[in-house]
Amino acid sequence: MQNGNLNTIWDILGTVPDPEIPVISVVELGVIRNVEFIENEYVISVTPTYSGCPAVKTFQDDIKTQLKANNINNFKIKIVYKPAWTTNWMTKKTKKKLKEYGISPPEDIAQCPQCNSTNIELISEFGATACKSLYKCSDCLEPFEHFKCI
Ligand SMILES: [Zn+2]
Repeated sequence: MQNGNLNTIWDILGTVPDPEIPVISVVELGVIRNVEFIENEYVISVTPTYSGCPAVKTFQDDIKTQLKANNINNFKIKIVYKPAWTTNWMTKKTKKKLKEYGISPPEDIAQCPQCNSTNIELISEFGATACKSLYKCSDCLEPFEHFKCI
C-alpha cells in the first residue's frame, strides 16, 4: 500500500495509544498535527506535549512500530514545536475518556473524577509524570491525578 491514502495512515495512528494513558490514542491526544504524502513518502507532523516529557520518545517509537506492522515503511516523522501543544487540542470526547479512566481532565478547575467533588486537596504538583498533579478528594477520600492545563 504505497498509494498515498492518508485516511489509512490516520486510522493506523488512531490505534496507537498514548504511552501514559492507554485509553486515548495519540490522535485523540492531539499530538498528530498533519499527515501529508510528499514525493512518495508519508510525512507525519508530530507536536510533543510537554517539553521534556519522556513519553515523546516512546510515542514516536510506537508510531513507527505500528506503521511498520501495517506494512507502511515509506514515512518519516517530523517534530513540530510551533505552535506549542496545548490541552485545548484535546476534544471533549477525549476529556470524557480521561475522566472515565479516573484522571481529572485538563479543565480550569480540577474535579474528583469519582464523585465530581471540587472539595479537593493538592497533594503534589507532580503525579506519576510531570504532566499531571496529584490530588486527594476530601469527600470520597480517593486520590486522583489531574491533567494539567497548558
Ligand atoms: Zn471524590
